[in-house]
Amino acid sequence: MRPLSVSELLAVWERGWSARPFERALALLSAATPECSPATLAGVSLGRRDASLLQLREWVFGPDLALVATCPHCGQSLEMAVPAGSLRSSPSYRSDAAAGREIEVAAGDHEIRCRPPNSEDLLACVGLESAARRGRLFERCVLEARRQGQAVPAEQLPENVAELVVRRIAASDPQADVRIDLGCPDCRHQWTEVFDIVSFFWTEIDAWARRTLHDVHALASAYGWRESDVLALSPGRRQIYLTMAQA
Ligand SMILES: [Zn+2]
Repeated sequence: MRPLSVSELLAVWERGWSARPFERALALLSAATPECSPATLAGVSLGRRDASLLQLREWVFGPDLALVATCPHCGQSLEMAVPAGSLRSSPSYRSDAAAGREIEVAAGDHEIRCRPPNSEDLLACVGLESAARRGRLFERCVLEARRQGQAVPAEQLPENVAELVVRRIAASDPQADVRIDLGCPDCRHQWTEVFDIVSFFWTEIDAWARRTLHDVHALASAYGWRESDVLALSPGRRQIYLTMAQA
């Protein structure tokens, strides 16, 4: 994986306008990982996908993430800078070869071979409501289930066995479920928020892209430059020209 240029990021943003979140994630990683086929990337577990997105986000916008939350108890708004490193489920996650792989779960006389969900699974669940979606994901992620050596369909596993399988799958790919502990400075209420790198990163990209096009408009109007001329400027030089053009 490599960082994206300004024009590459703009191109991904434009293609992603009407895309679903998991398609935006794949488009970003596909642009940053041209050596991997789209099918390979779609088969990467969601936790490993999110670890790569967090890395890409760090390269594009820097090591700190500006998070905004609202206290569910008193409504106070909180703003904080969270280091990307603190959102990694393990410091060695990217080199952790075990993450996102197939796992085996033994529960009583059941033996299950399973894997964490990936982007292909999300595509297969498009349009399903939440219960059907959970069922479809589970069936896809259970590769083989046996009871006393006899094959059992995933949907016929006892509830306690299915719950154990879901927990073990989640534990095998922890970066897919990142939670942040928060405390309200006003009322001292403490709570946990789910952090979704896909929507967070895309919201940042959207705001950045609109600012960038605004800059292109201002400089193209003032100097008669082409879009590619403006995008080729470093941020510092672009800002100096903008200041002069608006003087
Ligand atoms: Zn509060």
